[in-house]
Amino acid sequence: MNGVKERELINEIRERNIEKSSGLRKNVLMSEFTTFRVGGPARLFFEPEDENILIEVLKLFKEYDVPFQIIGNGSNILVRDEGFDGAILRIGKSPNEVEVSGNNLNAPAGVLLSYVSKLALDNGLSGLEFASGIPGSVGGAVFMNAGAYGAEVSDIFKSSKILYLSNFKIEKTDKSKMDFSYRHSILENEDSMPTGIVLSAEFELKFDDKEKISERMKDYNSRRIAKQPLNLPSAGSFFKRPEGNFAAKLIEDSGLKGLCLGNAAVSEKHAGFIVNRGGASASDIIMLMNIVRETVYDRFGVMLEPEVRIIGE
Ligand SMILES: Cc1cc2nc3c(=O)[nH]c(=O)nc-3n(C[C@H](O)[C@H](O)[C@H](O)COP(=O)(O)OP(=O)(O)OC[C@H]3O[C@@H](n4cnc5c(N)ncnc54)[C@H](O)[C@@H]3O)c2cc1C
Repeated sequence: MNGVKERELINEIRERNIEKSSGLRKNVLMSEFTTFRVGGPARLFFEPEDENILIEVLKLFKEYDVPFQIIGNGSNILVRDEGFDGAILRIGKSPNEVEVSGNNLNAPAGVLLSYVSKLALDNGLSGLEFASGIPGSVGGAVFMNAGAYGAEVSDIFKSSKILYLSNFKIEKTDKSKMDFSYRHSILENEDSMPTGIVLSAEFELKFDDKEKISERMKDYNSRRIAKQPLNLPSAGSFFKRPEGNFAAKLIEDSGLKGLCLGNAAVSEKHAGFIVNRGGASASDIIMLMNIVRETVYDRFGVMLEPEVRIIGE
């Protein structure tokens, strides 16, 4: 990122008096904003407090030619050790409350899935049980059609307010336009950058007995505790499920369970997870990822695709 442009952008932000509302900070360590707990500094970091400021900031990025990346709760990203030489835009602030009306639940993008699923339970609404243990935001979950235990976002998704990056227009987008499939939505791009920013999502749930909803949540969460290395930082399952197979099984059958590189390791508990054993670098994790991909390919002819998005040069 060009230093002159950076200074001009910051001056413009100060002149417009939006420094505070845009959440502007400089040289922010991304290890603090990712569940992997790794990642170097983002040169600029923004967390706009509402949609208008978000649009204003995006327009300024365009005007000053600032490369940027969007993040939610950072539970499915890996930021390189060199950091990101541009602006990270975190969709975290949620000025609006989650609204529950009948069997519909409308949540701002920055709200955590654990929070909305608990709220659904409190209102006797079923459908979000699968999401209660996923440590992501509503926006991140819609973007990648998050799912678990045979359910996924698309099952309950009704519509989203999306800010499209091609024209900075906000449109209410319903399910038929989302092109949902396994860990995919229309917002996914070739690179890690979404084509639009989810601002909120409306879920259509079903009335059910609170006890039954609570039992299902407890069941899913105890299965997670039993099978996943939740005591160590990670980004969840590192690889997408290859068609007709399971990444964890292929990795385990390739003899890679427990393999370490520096402080990164293929989890002993769940071979689909790469974990940070403490002080791992992003390059350890990326090298380990490559070893896993190559070994599984040599052994089974399957090239695993990362589900985790890698940010940085
Ligand atoms: C322990 C653990 C368990 C996990 N279990 C599961 C699981 O069971 N199922 C599952 O699907 N995932 C799982 N994950 C992965 C992750 O939690 C989900 O993918 C989650 O939906 C990511 O949301 P996020 O807000 O953290 O997104 P981030 O990691 O911040 O971002 C991920 C992608 O989403 C985009 N994005 C984020 N917010 C928005 C937005 N508002 N609008 C548009 N794009 C956006 C980003 O640009 C990025 O490309 C797990 C992760 C961990 C650490």
